[in-house]
Amino acid sequence: MNQDKKCPSCGATLVFNPGFDSLICQSCGHKEVIPELVSKVPVLEMDFLTAQNTASHDWGMEAKIVQCRQCGAETIQNKLQLSGRCPFCGSNTVDSFDAMGDLMAPMGIIPFKITENRALYIFKDWIKDRFLAPDKLAQNAQLNKFYGIYIPLFTFDTLTVNRYTARCHGDNKTWFKSGKYQFQVDDFPVVASKQLTGDKLLSSVVKDYWTREAKPYSPDALAGFPCEHYSIGLKDAWNSCGPDMQFYLKNETEKHESGSEYMDAMIATDYYDLKYKYLIVPVWINSFFYDGKLYTIVINGQTGKINGQWPKSFGTLARKAVELFF
Ligand SMILES: [Zn+2]
Ligand SMILES: [Zn+2]
Repeated sequence: MNQDKKCPSCGATLVFNPGFDSLICQSCGHKEVIPELVSKVPVLEMDFLTAQNTASHDWGMEAKIVQCRQCGAETIQNKLQLSGRCPFCGSNTVDSFDAMGDLMAPMGIIPFKITENRALYIFKDWIKDRFLAPDKLAQNAQLNKFYGIYIPLFTFDTLTVNRYTARCHGDNKTWFKSGKYQFQVDDFPVVASKQLTGDKLLSSVVKDYWTREAKPYSPDALAGFPCEHYSIGLKDAWNSCGPDMQFYLKNETEKHESGSEYMDAMIATDYYDLKYKYLIVPVWINSFFYDGKLYTIVINGQTGKINGQWPKSFGTLARKAVELFF
């Protein structure tokens, strides 16, 4: 698999073509559809409890781990690829390792839908509103270049039984109600990237993927796009989502059980039949240093949602900057 990524017409290297579920030759334009990405086969869900024994470690390609000396990010890349630059911080000082250890391979992928040009357009529109952007940034040539990367995402399915005790209000009365609500959770997402989840602005972009559109993993989709090494393992991902899951289930329970009255529920949940998927999902990243601090802007590579960090102080004109960049 994935050995032959050369163009049959001209011999140049094929790269993944965002938005088209295909590989493309950048010299002659030859295209090859990636069968996995156009298949109707759903991504399999795996049993959580036996994950250790059943998870695949086959990435379908000769892969290496590339570690950034500046920010510590670890990405997985095809061995044949030159690993020049860290997609998270732009640093050129990276080390690569051949040993992949027992790193789980993804079961599914959400391919890039947003092209780099489209990402730039979205960015241009977005910074129009950051009117306090400093003019020093205008000189930063990095700003008009986005880097595509896949980040790791676990999704969880589980049957929940929620026992609740609730205080209800309606018709100027307050009363208590308790009961049991059974609810099937489908594709609850947990981003396994430490690089993008530490910051609220950035994590807001990578939380919302249409996971139903995930396709079976193909190493061809990684042609030209690195993939972040998951820094949160499967078990830790499940353990860490407790508070978010409880918040979600409390809402679902209240929605379903309240009828017309307002209800404030306390719930206790039992989880059954826990299943997971390990997906890799696309983001466009732009990072730049300003006054010694790293700023990052991310765009969801499937939906186009954008958010990011931006220097706040200073006076002058982003509009000027916009004119300069584009
Ligand atoms: Zn070609
Ligand atoms: Zn880095």
